[in-house]
Amino acid sequence: MRRAVIFLMVGLLAQVLVVPSRASALSGRYVLATPFLGTYKRPVRAFLTTKELDVVTRMSSHLRLSQRGLKPAVNRGTWHIEPGLERSEHLSMQRQVVRNLQQVLEKFNGTFASWQIDVIIGRTQSYIKSQMASLGCAPDLSQTGNEILMGAAVCGRHVLVSNLTGFLFLTAPDQPLTSVLEARAEPRANSMPYLLEIRSLEGLAHEWAHSYRAAGQQGRVLVEEPAWVKEGLASMWASISVVNTFQSRMTYRDWHILRLRKFVHWVDQCNKPLREYRSVIQGTNGCEYFMGPLAIELLIARHGGLQNVVEVFHLHDSAQGFPGDFVQVYGMTIEEFEHEADLYIAQIRKAELTK
Ligand SMILES: [Zn+2]
Repeated sequence: MRRAVIFLMVGLLAQVLVVPSRASALSGRYVLATPFLGTYKRPVRAFLTTKELDVVTRMSSHLRLSQRGLKPAVNRGTWHIEPGLERSEHLSMQRQVVRNLQQVLEKFNGTFASWQIDVIIGRTQSYIKSQMASLGCAPDLSQTGNEILMGAAVCGRHVLVSNLTGFLFLTAPDQPLTSVLEARAEPRANSMPYLLEIRSLEGLAHEWAHSYRAAGQQGRVLVEEPAWVKEGLASMWASISVVNTFQSRMTYRDWHILRLRKFVHWVDQCNKPLREYRSVIQGTNGCEYFMGPLAIELLIARHGGLQNVVEVFHLHDSAQGFPGDFVQVYGMTIEEFEHEADLYIAQIRKAELTK
């Protein structure tokens, strides 16, 4: 994950909630979400639009369906864990979330049994780099200062890395990873800000989803797959797995508010139509990580659930490319869906700005 994105994510640690100022014709209602893990000042309040409430209700039922008839996953990856992390609470939670994701993906006819995935979990760069080297994996990390900051899927997305030090302690874009941080004792989850807990819970599952996506393409990179689709899918699969894993402590609606609505100030920082977040080359300000999940959530909720998303993964017809795969499964073009999602997000933006 790029530094700009981390900055966006932690920027809202100092967030001030939008206070309703005046009534408008926007239909919907106010709801409260209580963070299910970590510290917080007060429950988070948001005005959900009518369509958003419908999306959330539909997502809740898609999640319930996803949990029926789960079997142990076939492809669970080969794990390399830094000594000393055996009792890590955050590692344990990341693993629980990944396990649920593996089971749900495979339930939807998504077993890629022969796709090798190595998972490296560490607190120190030296351990992470030594494990990557032993796997013959030497990724280009120049964009992140030659370090693994938090989560990453590297080396053809066969190697997933989670740097717990980054997940636990990095809160500013220019903050260095030091040996002091690497040696600092892991805080209990219930003593850390809930936003950092959300980031940590999602981290490894997000990368697993990327790897799974790559397996569907036999490792090839789909150049025409929009960045907002790529990151939106990974974030939504991780979101679904977090909610499933902690279903006794939160609802899908809580997650939608905490992660999709209030995680960052996307209203200010991401105010272009979705098509502007197709390619990171033009500069997206990391908005594909925040607009992408909102759009993919709409796609899952209103256009055939998780089944269709997995079907696109499996199609991978190189003759028609991603846009053709999308039309084949959804019966509409990616441009048509972008337009629908832009309208949906515009209403949510209005709610954020006026309610
Ligand atoms: Zn990603």
